[in-house]
Amino acid sequence: MNDNTPSPRGSCTLVGAGPGDPELLTIKAVKAIRAATVLLVDDLVHDDVLAWARPDARIVHVGKRGGCKSTPQAFIEKLMIAAVREGEQVVRLKGGDPFIFGRGGEEVEHLRAAGIDCQVVNGITAGLAAVTALGVPLTHRDHAHGVVFMTGHAKPGHQPTDWPLVGASVRTLGLTLVVYMGIGRVADLQQGLLQSLPATTPVAVVKNASLAHQQHCVTTLAALQHAIVRNELGSPAVIVVGDVVRGVQCLSSASSSPLEEIAQKKALNMR
Ligand code: SAH
Repeated sequence: MNDNTPSPRGSCTLVGAGPGDPELLTIKAVKAIRAATVLLVDDLVHDDVLAWARPDARIVHVGKRGGCKSTPQAFIEKLMIAAVREGEQVVRLKGGDPFIFGRGGEEVEHLRAAGIDCQVVNGITAGLAAVTALGVPLTHRDHAHGVVFMTGHAKPGHQPTDWPLVGASVRTLGLTLVVYMGIGRVADLQQGLLQSLPATTPVAVVKNASLAHQQHCVTTLAALQHAIVRNELGSPAVIVVGDVVRGVQCLSSASSSPLEEIAQKKALNMR
């Protein structure tokens, strides 16, 4: 490039692809995807979302698809910065909302530190979609004064979550608790919450919210772990704790198994 050639102007936009259902994309998200020359795509983004991309766009999957290890965060950030500097219109497609967990904030910080401004397009976050998909509101005013989104997976090296305190706050303030990434550490979460919430507190677990293969179960705090195992509710799933769950119509997958009932009785006796 000689000195008179203007440097190409790349751009970067973090786009929320929503919880799964490709029809839950915003119009703004679609516009950004259509304008992209490079798309860096997370695991939980539905393939149909990519149908909006230009045929000549470069699509890079950076998630754990196909059993591969996910791409290290630092590498993704390097890719984004390099592509913007090459003049590409980069879209970083992330599941749900880019700023609800999922490291969107870290990516924006790194780009800004490299002198690159970054736009952010909201998406519908999984916790919101999951509860709506069950036909209940997160904050019915008869049952909850607010909602709290927590991660079940504290950053390594940070204090583990004080679940008894979370439970006490939720109880005192009348909040719905929605836990992302909670399945892997559900034993800690359950034990901790049981110290401050009744064993009979209603809980719903929703996997693949908003997708055709969505699954859910409705149970109690005492029976939570058994219900997850019995209904094979692995990741991606959210755990919803609170009275709003009482409104969920009980479907067949929602009924308690004998094991869950034993766990529930045990928990009740312990109190
Ligand atoms: N930024 C995302 C969350 C990323 S963290 C958002 O706003 O939704 C990833 C976690 O989100 C998963 O472990 C799971 O807890 C939750 N999640 C994402 N998609 C989901 C879905 N379709 N159904 C249920 N939970 C989902």
